[in-house]
Amino acid sequence: MDVFDLIMEAHHEQVVFCHDEKTGLKSIIAIHDTTLGPALGGTRMWPYRTSLEALIDVLRLSEGMTYKAAVAGLDLGGGKAVIIGDAKKDKTPDLLRSHGRFVDTLGGRYITAEDVGIGVEDMEYVYEETRHVTGIRSSPRGSGDPSPVTAYGVYHGIRASCKRKLGSDDLAGVRVAVQGAGHVGYYLCADLASEGAEITITDIDKERVRRVVDDFGATPVEPERIYDVECEVFAPCALGAIINDNTLRRLKCSVVAGGANNQLQEDRHGDALDARGILYAPDYVINAGGLINVYGEIVGYGIDIAKERAAGIYETLLSIYRIAEEEGIPTYRAADQLAQQRIREARAAKERAGRETDAVGAERG
Ligand code: NAD
Repeated sequence: MDVFDLIMEAHHEQVVFCHDEKTGLKSIIAIHDTTLGPALGGTRMWPYRTSLEALIDVLRLSEGMTYKAAVAGLDLGGGKAVIIGDAKKDKTPDLLRSHGRFVDTLGGRYITAEDVGIGVEDMEYVYEETRHVTGIRSSPRGSGDPSPVTAYGVYHGIRASCKRKLGSDDLAGVRVAVQGAGHVGYYLCADLASEGAEITITDIDKERVRRVVDDFGATPVEPERIYDVECEVFAPCALGAIINDNTLRRLKCSVVAGGANNQLQEDRHGDALDARGILYAPDYVINAGGLINVYGEIVGYGIDIAKERAAGIYETLLSIYRIAEEEGIPTYRAADQLAQQRIREARAAKERAGRETDAVGAERG
């Protein structure tokens, strides 16, 4: 497999392979597209079996970030970094500092954050070497836990999806089955309960389930039973790839709308939801509240504005549902189209501005 073929396939701008013999760092930073702004995306640490596997992952993840930022209306591009290694064994302060130095060489074209295998405490070491980091506790601009904003966006996304599918965005009496009572799941249940939704909750952590039952009067079910719950909305807020061959045939809902990342195991499962008449709120659209919150660190707004912008996910989803209907395509494809359209328009505007500057320069010259 040719490396440049891979890079060119999804039109990545830049891929940086980083190596530090002293700390054992092997990382890859991928910048997918900076048309809208600097490429933002977390650093993931994972024991990839081969460098090729790591490269494919970072290319896929960074492209996803471009789309997520574009649809959320943020002036950000898409990037991501992966460190090859086992976060439990290989992660050291020196390794993280070394990664930070490589991030710094990009001069802000890439801004990093935490991701799988890398926590907020790890980012403090990266921050010692570069300012191009978000989600730092010790930074005065640090935006803190993004989960309440993510959940707030998901809540508005559920309202929009109910409006589209059920004809009303009033959630009173609407049955919502929530998978995962963690950070996002808990806050989402709070928002849903305040509107009178009927919540069914599951988690593998019984204590977390109990908290949601006690605080919001939710009905608990065993983790495996959540797919069989009759409801209007299934809200995945735990795992990826939960829309798959096994779960699809069991779902008894009208809408799938939740905060989890990468909900479709494969694209064809998005097609299958569509074919079954289940409305799917594309994951990266409905869970963009966290990114909207982090963006506040870069441009300088606080949680109130972040929440206001996250509420905009309502209108964004309605636009996506309209595109899906007009074009006769599943909603996850319509979301990609909306992102591509925004990037195309921004690129064309930049090119126009560039031509005008050239013309002025030529006249003066
Ligand atoms: P979290 O770890 O706080 O919560 C996840 C919960 O899922 C945990 O309570 C865990 O016990 C539970 N869980 C794990 N396996 C399960 C299973 N088989 N059945 C039922 N429950 C199970 O994580 P979080 O921050 O709430 O994130 C949840 C999802 O949302 C993840 O996919 C994450 O990538 C995505 N997401 C989160 C944010 C954010 O702001 N936190 C932003 C965007 C996307």
